[in-house]
Amino acid sequence: MSFLYRSTRDENETATASQAILKGLAANGGLFVPDEIPMLDKSFSELGDMDYCGVAFSVMRLMLGDFTDEELWHCIRSAYDEKFDTEKIVPVKYHHNAYFMELFHGKTIAFKDMALSILPYLMTTAAKKNEMKEEIVILTATSGDTGKAALAGFSDVPGTRIAVFYPKDGVSPIQEKQMVTEKGKNTFVAGIRGNFDDAQTGVKKMFSDPALQQELLEKGFRFSSANSINIGRLVPQMVYYVYGYTRLVKAGTVKAGEPVNVVVPTGNFGNILAAYYASLMGLPVAKFICASNDNKVLYDFFTTGAYDRNREFILTTSPSMDILISSNLERLIYRLAGNDAEKNRELMQSLSEKGRYEITEEMKSSLYNFYGNFADMHEVAEMIRKVYDEDGYIIDPHTAVAAAVYDKYRAETGDETPALIASTASPYKFTRSVMEAIDPSLSETDDFRLVDRLSAISGVPVPGAVEEIRSAEVLHKTVCEKDEMEKVVKDFLNI
Ligand SMILES: *Cc1c(COP(=O)(O)O)cnc(C)c1O
Repeated sequence: MSFLYRSTRDENETATASQAILKGLAANGGLFVPDEIPMLDKSFSELGDMDYCGVAFSVMRLMLGDFTDEELWHCIRSAYDEKFDTEKIVPVKYHHNAYFMELFHGKTIAFKDMALSILPYLMTTAAKKNEMKEEIVILTATSGDTGKAALAGFSDVPGTRIAVFYPKDGVSPIQEKQMVTEKGKNTFVAGIRGNFDDAQTGVKKMFSDPALQQELLEKGFRFSSANSINIGRLVPQMVYYVYGYTRLVKAGTVKAGEPVNVVVPTGNFGNILAAYYASLMGLPVAKFICASNDNKVLYDFFTTGAYDRNREFILTTSPSMDILISSNLERLIYRLAGNDAEKNRELMQSLSEKGRYEITEEMKSSLYNFYGNFADMHEVAEMIRKVYDEDGYIIDPHTAVAAAVYDKYRAETGDETPALIASTASPYKFTRSVMEAIDPSLSETDDFRLVDRLSAISGVPVPGAVEEIRSAEVLHKTVCEKDEMEKVVKDFLNI
């Protein structure tokens, strides 16, 4: 199969799936996109009879053309195993008019585990296939969840090292503690004085610096990315939409082929783009409901056709969505522009120079199946309390952004199509915000005592990921300015 990936900014830059995974990012800031997306070749009822690994294989083999069946099974089986605290891997639960797809049963209790459990296997397999000699250096900017999920995935994986940058004052205390207590010998974690966009811009800058890359190559290193710009992140994320849908078919909620809506709390636009790619593979999705928090740059984009990052950056209770540059939107823009790299490049140039671009009316009209809205912090807290009061189910603030936006969508449209909500984090990761939402008069100052209280009221045992950091030692203490990132990476690599 001559299945290729191509850069969104240069139609002549192509790569096989394994090469695209190794590179992470194309030259000049471009992203790799598939030339075509093959249709699913199994029926929904066949897929409904498969477990998570079976569905993963059926979906991923279509997207990763140059991996052998054996290689792919090895990656899938190694990723989706006892690291997850349930055999279902992704339980689907009905509460408050929607089906919550719980994507947080992996090692670090956020949905990033769904892709980052498998990425190290895809990458090391790809390195072998391409006879790569250098050690892989993963550079990652995180708004909180990617960091720990990537650290957990790459921890002590031979042939790899990983450096993670997070905004020092922009993550939850539990997210920070998870990262700075990471024990892997090949890991490095630094807080930066700046926000997530600063961290992401710094990482992208190192990626697109040819002199730095040359210097690394000479020392036997090669950069790659574990951010959702890597197609090795996106492809595994397509799987759970197909899996979630086929569970609904199996339960008789929808007939095979009947559409559902998907609701996704969105930051970098990776998760919702994976749902869109899954629909191009034949998954019947009627509406893609894009939920934003107070940083509602995407809501404004879907309503006006103008993407404008020139605005205040707001720190919210859903920090993993505190983002003003949604990198993966570029992949959708490229498609809307008729897979035209030149048109896309012009828009992205405008974004980097003016912080803004506007799509044509024609492009905007092909966005008819996307719906954007947002929920502010007050609405998020109210949503957490409301769902809890109904039947004792507790959702995290990111999932609550999605649930609140879904309520707005239903009220506006009256659309009763069954909806799958991407439930992206365990409430234990954001214990303080969750407990304050449920009990606004809360005065407890100790986060771990709140963890125990959350367990008492929810009846859900404290996840291992939280237990293990209670008394863990802080091993990573670096805090740097945003223009010192290159220097601290070099120190880490001893070059
Ligand atoms: C990363 C993250 C998001 C946003 O996902 P994107 O793919 O960046 O849009 C939402 N919720 C949680 C909990 C996350 O960790």
